[in-house]
Amino acid sequence: MNEKCFALKKVMTRTGNCACRDGNCPGYSACPFYKPVWKFERDLELKFAKLAALPESTQRHIAYKYYRGLMPWRRDMA
Ligand code: SF4
Repeated sequence: MNEKCFALKKVMTRTGNCACRDGNCPGYSACPFYKPVWKFERDLELKFAKLAALPESTQRHIAYKYYRGLMPWRRDMA
């Protein structure tokens, strides 16, 4: 399976290249960071479901520390 890597579709960089290897993508079979877009999105949904199940105070702590105060797992991106 040779699907487009999530890093080329979902991660914005100034050059448009993947930042993992300074723009020198060795291809999916040689890169330990490769992940197809569908798997990236599935993993993100699983991560958000876990975050949403945490206590409110823990969610707020994580939001302020890692998400600039936002809670994207609640679709709270305004
Ligand atoms: S395969 Fe690796 S180097 Fe290539 S775009 Fe994906 S993460 Fe970046």
